[in-house]
Order: sequence, then structure tokens, then C-alpha cells
Amino acid sequence: MGELQSSIQYLSGVGPKRAALLKAELGIETIEDLLHFYPFRYIDRSRITPIAEVSSDLAYIQVQGSVVSRTLYGANSQVIDQGQATVRWNAVKRLSVIVQDASGSMEMVFFKGIKWNYARLVPGSTFVFFGKPSDFNGRMNIVHPEVDAPLPPGAPGNGTLTGVYPSTEKLKNGGVTGKVMCKLESAALALCANEIKETLPDYIIRENALCSRAYAIKNIHFPADGYALEKATRRLKWEELFFLQLSLLKQKYIRSRFAAGLPLTKVGQAFNSCYDSLPYELTGAQKRVIKEIFTDFRSGHQMNRLLQGDVGSGKTMVAVLSALLAIDNGYQACMMAPTEVLTRQHYANICKYLAPTGIKCAMLTGSSTARERREIHAGLEDGSIGFIVGTHALIEDNVEFRNLGLAVIDEQHRFGVDQRARLWSKRKDGVPPHVLVMTATPIPRTLAMTLYGDLDVSVIDELPPGRKPVKTYLVPDNKKVKVYNFMRRQIEAGRQVFVVYPLIFESEKIDLNNLEMGYEEILKYFPMPDYKVAIVHGQQTNEVKNFNMAAFAEGRANILVSTTVIEVGVDVPNASVMVIESSQRFGLSQLHQLRGRVGRGADESYCVLVYDFKTGKDARSRLELMARTNDGFEIAEEDMKMRGPGDLEGTQQSGLPISLNIASLARDGMLLGDARAYAGHVLAADPGLEQPVNAPLLRELRKGKYDIKDYSKIS
Ligand code: ADP
Ligand code: MG
Repeated sequence: MGELQSSIQYLSGVGPKRAALLKAELGIETIEDLLHFYPFRYIDRSRITPIAEVSSDLAYIQVQGSVVSRTLYGANSQVIDQGQATVRWNAVKRLSVIVQDASGSMEMVFFKGIKWNYARLVPGSTFVFFGKPSDFNGRMNIVHPEVDAPLPPGAPGNGTLTGVYPSTEKLKNGGVTGKVMCKLESAALALCANEIKETLPDYIIRENALCSRAYAIKNIHFPADGYALEKATRRLKWEELFFLQLSLLKQKYIRSRFAAGLPLTKVGQAFNSCYDSLPYELTGAQKRVIKEIFTDFRSGHQMNRLLQGDVGSGKTMVAVLSALLAIDNGYQACMMAPTEVLTRQHYANICKYLAPTGIKCAMLTGSSTARERREIHAGLEDGSIGFIVGTHALIEDNVEFRNLGLAVIDEQHRFGVDQRARLWSKRKDGVPPHVLVMTATPIPRTLAMTLYGDLDVSVIDELPPGRKPVKTYLVPDNKKVKVYNFMRRQIEAGRQVFVVYPLIFESEKIDLNNLEMGYEEILKYFPMPDYKVAIVHGQQTNEVKNFNMAAFAEGRANILVSTTVIEVGVDVPNASVMVIESSQRFGLSQLHQLRGRVGRGADESYCVLVYDFKTGKDARSRLELMARTNDGFEIAEEDMKMRGPGDLEGTQQSGLPISLNIASLARDGMLLGDARAYAGHVLAADPGLEQPVNAPLLRELRKGKYDIKDYSKIS
């Protein structure tokens, strides 16, 4: 009894040293932790690829061959003599091993562990090499393959699928290799297999055709066969996604049960007069979303809705009309934006829209004067101000509303959940106002369901008619002259051009060098006095920055060279070309945002993605997606799929406020949808999870694993 909770030190093969290492590197302390540490892929020991069929298009492969020769290289690829003399290992930079099977030969390359690999890869001996093949100067190679002795034909027992566990350099150096990991898992299972407890009630297992948890854990480590692995994986992923969604939806249920909402039932004069004086027809998507919002308003419950819509899809109008519905019902509305620039933009627009309604609109920002503040505070308290737009200044404590009905938050990802919560308490009677959160950051559906899983989601998936999509081209950087010629023609036609450099290096200094080199080159092609080129970057003083920015915005400069470190916040409708240097370094969503800065005017506009001509096929196909579509959501979805688990889980998701052990938001969208629907179904029958049959669910949630802790990390 209780072995699951005991320290891994009690497993054979784990002493105090390894225990400390496993704790430090992987956070594994107990046997249970160890059992919850799953392989991230499996080697199919039964499949060997003939060397002649190896191509760089293949993912991980396994070849079996005998060593033909081994060569040691020093700096500058000079061959190091391996004759009788002792090798000076310090001078060795690379080990190259040529391996052959009946069909052909290929190279294995090592930059690390050279001495050891040199010793064991003796010519004439046969090994199995596992890794990702690549094409180096026309020859196939694998860099740092995993090397194993070949399995005897028809090796008995252990299934053909062997788990590969995530590892670190320190673990490997400490002797915790893949094989050791397998042994530890095996020992853990031998000791505790009977102790693995079910976390789901029987009826849930039955209704979702899941396997038991004990079966799943056993087979995730040592799959009996492909089918067993699939069952095990599905069970563990489903469970993880289910609990995550259950936790999110439970909060939502509690809120809608206990938080009565302000009933906003009528459509009145303000809404109608604004609507009637619109210079354009609303898009179908805008109309649909306004209906969804109005349904929430009338429901008697508090609205918590996320509105997603690409840049330019017309979210502001939806927010304004929703605010007017609130105002028509006797309430006030506020809209909070993340920056002063955006706030001013909104204010100017909203004043225009509100003109026909006679409603008083105000703006509050960090730079409002004391006197303005006093007036605004008074106006909000006596109700004479119907609509206010502002920055964070709005949630400062001394801002009091007479009767706030709707709070709109633009660009949600810049606000933390605490800030959102502070808007809730802006009413004296404690009833929370309705909340509409807007974002243009296209995030994939699965991610939205998780990050905003406690919100209802509306999507504007249609741009206003007549928008010309930005034409996007890919150009390798050794053909940059073409780009310059194109820029020249556009400038001659009276247009302006953005040239953006990415943040490539950790150090801003090197980035700056990079930018300045580009700037010099552009100056050569676009010499004064015929052309004027402005440059803006993060290390300039505000004065210089503003001056250069204004030169471009006011049409005095033809070209603006900048980094993305600074926010190119100004709208320049005359700019028709966005050139992005080293575009292979950017995330697709960021490229999409940058591209959104052109195409505002009536003219045809262009985005040129300049990439390093050595860019690999995968990275290039990512960029090609940009040329294929202007749809930010499609881009986000595809980006997530293409980057696959590696990138997303390694770098992207690690910034998220939740960590998933086995499920992936990129690959398991269907399962997530299922699990969410089922969680909704469970809660509909038992919102508090109070029925005895659901006790295991509550117990699991209470462990806190599935709580989203910090929304402010989302960006
Ligand atoms: P978002 O905030 O979603 O990026 P905006 O609300 O700022 O987009 O709208 C972008 C532009 O489109 C604005 O100039 C707005 O006046 C205009 N617009 C909004 N809805 C429509 C529509 N249905 N038809 C034509 N133009 C529209
Ligand atoms: Mg907007």
C-alpha cells in the first residue's frame, strides 16, 4: 500500500544521486510522478528503412548498416590523422561515420560524444541508427543518431514499439539514458501496477468507450501493440482535456447560476438612430454577433463573451452598437483599450458614430489633466456621460459609474484576468456588468476554447466588402535587387514602403547592426536627394523616433526602415508595400499583423517576404501559406498544425498558463471538442458535481492541476 507515493529512490537503479537528478531535471519525485512521465514518441523496432530510400522528406527513421569508415575532422574540416599516433581529442570537432546496407551508404555525424562513438563504431560492426535524416551537399546524413545494437531477428517478448522519453543533457550525462528510463518505468509498474486508481466514474468510461486508467498507463509506457497504444493515448489525452474543460466550464456554470445579469431587453432610440445613419451596411457576421450579444443581454445572466475578428473586420462597430443597447436600457457603457494611441483612435471614431444619438462620450487616459479627470468622474457619477473610452485609467479605483451596464475590453490579451475582474465590481449593487472582450489576435479554435474556455465565443469571419487582399510574394534574399526595383516603381507611382527587420539576436546591439546594415544598403539603392529614407528603432530617443515616424506618416519620406521592437502604431494609408526581411524568423501570426499595416487605402497593396535563400523546405512552406491566404484564422490554425508538437509545446505553449502532459492543442482539436461537449453534458446534469457518482471528478479538480492561474501571460 502507498507505494505510489514513495520516493523513486526505493526503485532499484535509483540512488540518491539519480533521484536528485530526476527531481531537478524533470520534477520527478515519487513513483507516481515517474509513471506520469510519458514517452513522447515510439520507435517501431520492426521497421528498418533501406538506405537507398532515405530522403530528407522523411521524419525520424531507423536504418541498419555496418560501419565502413570513420573520419575525425578538426577545425575547418581538416582531417585529423588517426594513424598510430594518439589522437588529440581536444582538436577534434566532428566525427563522420559512413554506414552501408545492401542498398547504399550514408553518413552519421557527431559533434558531441565523439570519443565514445569513435570507440564503439568500429568498422565492420553493425548497428541500428535512429534519427532525422537531412541532405547535406547531396549526401544523406543523420546528425547525432541514436545508436543501438541490432535486434536479433524475431526477438521475442517486448513489443515492437519502444517508448522514447524526453531527456536533457544533464540526464544523459548522469547516466539516465533512454534505456535506463525504460527500466525505471518497468520497475515502477512492477511495483505499483495494482495501485493505479481510476479517476473517472464508470459511466463516463462507458459512455466514452475509454480504457481503464491502469491499462492506459501500462500501455503508454510499454504498448502491447499499435492498437493498445492508441487506446492508451486516447484515454490519457481525453482525460486531460476533459478535466481541463470541466474546470473551465464549471466556473462558467457557477457564475451563470449565481451571478444574475442586468436585464437589457429593449432596442431603443440611440441604437436605431446610430444604426440608421451608418454609412454602410453591416456584414452578415457583424449582424449575427450583435444578435448573439443581444440574446445574452436578455437572458437574465451576466454576459462574458469573447469577440474574435481579424484586423479590420469591424469589431468597433459591434462594440458601439452593443453599448448603445445598454444605454437604451438606462445604463452606461465603457470601453477599455491597451494603449493611449488606440484609445484616441477609438474615441475619434466613437464620437462620430454617436453624433446622431445625442449621447455624451468622454475619454480618460493617463494624460488626462486633473481638471478633465474631475469633470469625467463627476459625469460618470451623475450619469451625464453615457459612454466612456479609456486606458487602464478606467479601472483606477476612484472611477465610479452611476449605472454601468456594459464593459468592453479591446485586445484582451494585454489585460490580466484581475483587471477584467476589477471591471466587474464597478457597480454598487454588486451585480456585475456585461463584459465583451475583443481580440484581433487570431488564435486557433482549440486554443481559444482553452484560454478563454470560461467565455462564450463569437467570431466575425467576414471582412467588409470591397477590401482588396494584400498581394503577398516570397523572394529569396539573393534576389533582393528585384525587390528594390519593385520598391522603386511603387515609389515612382507616389506610394510609400515599409521595410521591417526582425529581432534576430538576443542582443539588441547586434539587431541594430543588422538593421543599420540594411539601412545602408537601402540608401545605396535609394540615394538622396531623389529619395528619402527614415529609420526608426527602439534605441532612439522618443524625440528622434517621433520625428522620423512623422516624416513617413506625413509623406516626406518614401521608405521607413524599422525593427519590430517599436510599435509602428501610425496608420499610413499611402503606404502600399510592406517588405519583411528575414521573414523566415517571424511567427506567421506576427507576419499577418505586420501585413495588416498595408492595404488600408484604395490602391493595390503588396507584402514582400524576403527570406534567407538557404531556408529549408518546411520553413518555406510556412511562408507560402502567407501568400495563399489573407485569413488570419486560417493562418493561425495552419501555423499551429505545421509547426507541430515540437515548436508549439517547446516554446509557444510553455508561455501559456496551463501545461498539458500528453494532449496537444495543435493535434487534438477533435478530442478537445468532444471532451468539452461531454464536460458540458456532465455539468448540465450536475452543475456542482455534488452527486456521489461524480465525487471522483471533484476530487481530481481539487488537486488544482487544471486551474488556469495567470491569464496575463497570454499574449
Ligand atoms: P477592427 O477593430 O475589427 O480591426 P474596425 O472596427 O476598426 O476593425 O473597422 C475597420 C474599418 O472598417 C473601419 O474604418 C470601419 O469604419 C469599417 N467598417 C466596419 N464595418 C464595416 C462594414 N460593415 N462595411 C464597411 N466598412 C466597415
Ligand atoms: Mg480594433
